Amino acid sequence: MNLGILLNKHVEKLHGEREGVCVLCGNKGRGFSINKVVSGNFTAWEFLNAGTIFCETCASSYKEQKLRRKSWIANQNEIIYFKNDDAEHYLFNPLEPPFFIHIAKKGQKQTWLSLFNVPAYNKNAYMFSYENFNYGIYFEKNKAKKYLDLIKFLLKKKVVKSELYQGIFKSKTWEKALKESYEEKLFEAKEYSQNPLWMVMVDVARI
Ligand SMILES: [Zn+2]
Repeated sequence: MNLGILLNKHVEKLHGEREGVCVLCGNKGRGFSINKVVSGNFTAWEFLNAGTIFCETCASSYKEQKLRRKSWIANQNEIIYFKNDDAEHYLFNPLEPPFFIHIAKKGQKQTWLSLFNVPAYNKNAYMFSYENFNYGIYFEKNKAKKYLDLIKFLLKKKVVKSELYQGIFKSKTWEKALKESYEEKLFEAKEYSQNPLWMVMVDVARI
């Protein structure tokens, strides 16, 4: 199983022109020369492996523009494109495995290619992709819930996302926390802020 196969039903099927080894899935088969598939401003060379073609299956999903522009969750039967207001819901309540989740930001870089051969099999612990990171992020449900509760608590206290994202707080933020006796929450946030999962949770948290 790979994401080409997972997404197969949801994308327009392309028919290959030549034989070769696929740079995404590594399989031998029919496909397209690499230059024919990627554009001049292709930004994801680091996600490709040794090979000579994009096979039909992989090229079909790679060329689907919606997979680049939008956030999505998919399994073999279903694909849901979602707004990032709903990202929390889908991260905590994914589809039946194997599934995959990609969270887009600007809709430019297909960082889901970095996990092309890593669909998710466990709803409580899995890898997903987030456009701002060139590598996969490990979702652990308990940890994510703990992060999210803390983030929402601090957002309600008017701590801003840019502070939470970096774990660096303004003196005014510390003053308010000391006055209202939740400064330990800021220390805790500071400790978590280096974790990519924390950063995604800050981004997707809504109060
Ligand atoms: Zn392939």
